Amino acid sequence: MKNEKKIFSIILVLAMVIGTVALSGCTQETENKIIVGTSADFKPFEYKAQNGTIIGFDIDLIKKILTDQGYTVEVQDIGFDSLIPALQTGKINVIAAAMTITDVRKQQVDFSNPYYNANQAVLVKVGADVNITNINDLANYSVGAQTGTTGWGWINDTLVATGKLDKSKFNSYELYTDAVSDLINGPTRVGAIVIDSPVAKAFAKSGNVKIVLNITTNESYGFAVEKGNAELVNKINTGLTAVMATTYWEDLVEKYFTT
Ligand code: GLN
Repeated sequence: MKNEKKIFSIILVLAMVIGTVALSGCTQETENKIIVGTSADFKPFEYKAQNGTIIGFDIDLIKKILTDQGYTVEVQDIGFDSLIPALQTGKINVIAAAMTITDVRKQQVDFSNPYYNANQAVLVKVGADVNITNINDLANYSVGAQTGTTGWGWINDTLVATGKLDKSKFNSYELYTDAVSDLINGPTRVGAIVIDSPVAKAFAKSGNVKIVLNITTNESYGFAVEKGNAELVNKINTGLTAVMATTYWEDLVEKYFTT
């Protein structure tokens, strides 16, 4: 009986040792894995290929930067407005979503150095009876944008808060792809969409929508990490500088912006 107890204790201790070793192995693995969050409705920066894989300028770039530094990368598709909360709660480690560096966001997350500049543009449906030549004309239509974006903020601050556009004519969408579908074939039939200029150009390539107005906002995109994660942001900045100095950068620009 005594011996049995002894053997049982030994087995218990062994199991604990094995368990600890196995667990530390797991931690090691997660330490080398980075989860990148994006909103894959923003071609050419992030979108879904025919087979469902998330690709795009931001995705290729952040994958290159992180894998060069020994990380494995997993990409998760999350609505734009939920990206910062997901970063703050540790569900993702990096945001790669053509995210504009703004003072408000800087209080919630830390940004890498800027990697791309953009402005806003106004998209309308080709052939629609819409006449927009300046920002005041927007007040005659319902205007849409993706919730939480700088385009959404611009409509809110410049048109709604100033009383130029009635609140009922401000349409918020979870995805920019939904906003553009609505522009083209309803059901709500938004008259115009405010969206980042490079993405407006990509949507216009379909021939169904066109840019009628450019709005200078002088935005710069950065990758975001959890506030205080200096180690990761430094690694991203080092990698970004290194990649920008190689032909990989030119090839990437060519791949996503000239075809
Ligand atoms: N650049 C814009 C912003 O940061 C839009 C980004 C997006 O919709 N993915 O708000």
